[in-house]
Amino acid sequence: MPELFIAGQWVPAAAGGRRDINCPADGRRVATVDEASATDTTAAIAAARAAFDDGSWPALPAGQRGALLLRVADLLERDKQELARAESLDTGKRLVEAEYDIDDVVACFRYFGGVSGTDAGRVVDTGRDDAISRVVREPVGVCGLITPWNYPLLQASWKVAPALSAGNTFVLKPSELTPSTAIMLMRTLAEAGVPAGVANLVLGAGPEAGAPLAVHADVDLVSFTGGLATGRQVMAAAAGTVKRVALELGGKNPNVVFADADVETAVDYALTAVFLHSGQVCSAGARLIVEDSLHDEFVDAVVARARRIRLGGPFDPEAETGPLISAAHLARVEQYVAAGIAEGAVLRCGGRRPDDPGLAEGYFYLPTVLDECERGMRVVAEESFGPVLTVERFRGEDEAVRIANDTIYGLAGAVWTQDAGRGQRVAQRLRHGTIWINDYHPYVPQAEWGGFKQSGVGRELGPTGLDEYREIKHIWQNVRPRPQHWFSPPGANDGR
Ligand code: NDP
Repeated sequence: MPELFIAGQWVPAAAGGRRDINCPADGRRVATVDEASATDTTAAIAAARAAFDDGSWPALPAGQRGALLLRVADLLERDKQELARAESLDTGKRLVEAEYDIDDVVACFRYFGGVSGTDAGRVVDTGRDDAISRVVREPVGVCGLITPWNYPLLQASWKVAPALSAGNTFVLKPSELTPSTAIMLMRTLAEAGVPAGVANLVLGAGPEAGAPLAVHADVDLVSFTGGLATGRQVMAAAAGTVKRVALELGGKNPNVVFADADVETAVDYALTAVFLHSGQVCSAGARLIVEDSLHDEFVDAVVARARRIRLGGPFDPEAETGPLISAAHLARVEQYVAAGIAEGAVLRCGGRRPDDPGLAEGYFYLPTVLDECERGMRVVAEESFGPVLTVERFRGEDEAVRIANDTIYGLAGAVWTQDAGRGQRVAQRLRHGTIWINDYHPYVPQAEWGGFKQSGVGRELGPTGLDEYREIKHIWQNVRPRPQHWFSPPGANDGR
């Protein structure tokens, strides 16, 4: 069966393009899928436009759309193992991590299903007895949804669930590297009863299959998750039609540890913060910023444990983390580490591929700690998106905040201290969209997610995440309409 989903039909790519999908853990081919060109994306946009302009979906009572999303959640839960397996094969991540991801996907659909129909708008006091004024929310229209490879189905669900909840139609373009679960999601949406043309899927390379979603006049909103450079291109392309833009870009996230922290716990979380999914997490705590007096003890403990992290493929029960997504990405991470060392960082562990011949076919890279880093270094300033921890020192609260905020990004960060007042003070001063105090990584779909500064525009999840997909309309009704006689009132100046 072909893999592009347009107007409720599974269709092959118009130009006949196909692409092999390989597992990053061993290079094995796991699927071959259709590869769309701009022609296919234009057809998908037309289908979404027609379903929005002429179809029943946007006008369906929001509660009914919500019920459908809850059914989608149940179906995804039913298919959890199959989805997790497909996600693991495409990304190389451990099966257990993919299972957690699918739990999060289900929670996301449940949240946006649950809030559908709970917002009846707002009645405004006009101060007049002859007018009723209401503010209501409506779907934006056709949404172009572009997603990355690190959390393929989860990132898609953060966009698809609110877009559907709000009554939009969409075209989804997942990463060319990880399309499998997006294909399965389309099947699930169709099974749940989403009408033809509401949900459309194109697979393929960003510049070909994705770019039209930012440019095309029939797309009302483009929501993009990915790297900063691509995000800038999408934003610039969207300017031509002044479409709404939502961007979730990268982060260079500070993990600030004060000397009064619970050291054992903070060390444990410092590892999870940066090495989870081998650092391919937008909110990864890749910058460890540690108080000078604790530095040596803390970094020694992190290094000792980082050296013991076991690498392996998705189904290796001994593995603690997996490979990088591709050979190109591995090369990029290697360059960042080399640049850091050249600029004076001290390599404490990792810094190379593993020796294990069993891992030679995959894109594995050892967990790496670079000590004695400075803010000006490329490896500190830019996102390596790999298992690379840079360590900086600070003295005192003000300097900690200054260092942690000295980045063009502003996605997430953490502060570790047993002084509750300090935790709150520092959290308030950090210019990042999510701050954890004595924790790292947890999130819930009820709370907004997104970045300050160049980490993005807008928010996903929570009520604001739903509002990204809604227009606001003010409806004013004069309940006793009578002539106003502002101009040329009858009887006045009749002789002129
Ligand atoms: P990219 O920016 O390379 O790609 C993201 C998506 O954009 C992919 O589907 C890609 O297609 C597509 N794309 C590429 N070029 C264009 C274009 N010209 N027009 C439209 N679409 C295009 O990011 P990665 O996939 O490499 O993902 C990693 C990045 O994503 C990291 O920098 C990370 O920080 C960020 N990220 C941010 C998150 C957040 O919540 N803030 C969450 C997850 C990741 P294709 O790859 O198929 O060519």
